[in-house]
Amino acid sequence: MSPPRAQRLGVAACHLCTLVSDAPSNAHARCPRCGARLHSRKPASRSRTFALLCAAILFYLPANLLPVMRTSQFGHAVDSTILSGVMAFWQAGEWDIALVIFIASIVIPCAKFLALGWLMWTTRRKHTLGRKQRTLLYRAVEFIGYWSMLDVLVVGLVCALVRFDLLGRIEPQPGIAFFGAVVMLTMLSASHFDPRLIWDDPEHD
Ligand SMILES: [Zn+2]
Repeated sequence: MSPPRAQRLGVAACHLCTLVSDAPSNAHARCPRCGARLHSRKPASRSRTFALLCAAILFYLPANLLPVMRTSQFGHAVDSTILSGVMAFWQAGEWDIALVIFIASIVIPCAKFLALGWLMWTTRRKHTLGRKQRTLLYRAVEFIGYWSMLDVLVVGLVCALVRFDLLGRIEPQPGIAFFGAVVMLTMLSASHFDPRLIWDDPEHD
């Protein structure tokens, strides 16, 4: 026998104070205790997650195609993109730094796009297989979000440090702003996804 679900029991928990009350009868229903908007699932969860994910993927192109920083030395300026930076570090023998940047700026964002896309597709199709694994995947996406600003921090830190050097100068370029936007949009997309959709009954609604 499947466990009782809040929707089936006709109740909903408040997102703010966790008070369980009668399921909202309309979109404007509010929690009787704290007055927060009451809804059994995040409103328009899938469409908002999808829209923000599309925006993140769109911004990912200029984040990789535009230079993220400009290095000037003796009047000679070189612009570098994320990938050319990875290659430069690799060729200089700094393979560990190259690997960290490659994982943080290429592997993790792409893995998050795929994970969110997969979660949305399977909840839309009301798949019942691997629910626990998909919940774990969602938690991993949320957890990684906190560490995704690593690249933006590295560029900011390097620019701040090298600014004091009289011989050289490093300036941030538009690519890094786009990369920051990708990270923010992906985090927002993940926050709009309601993981309870994974556990909803296929025959419900
Ligand atoms: Zn409440």
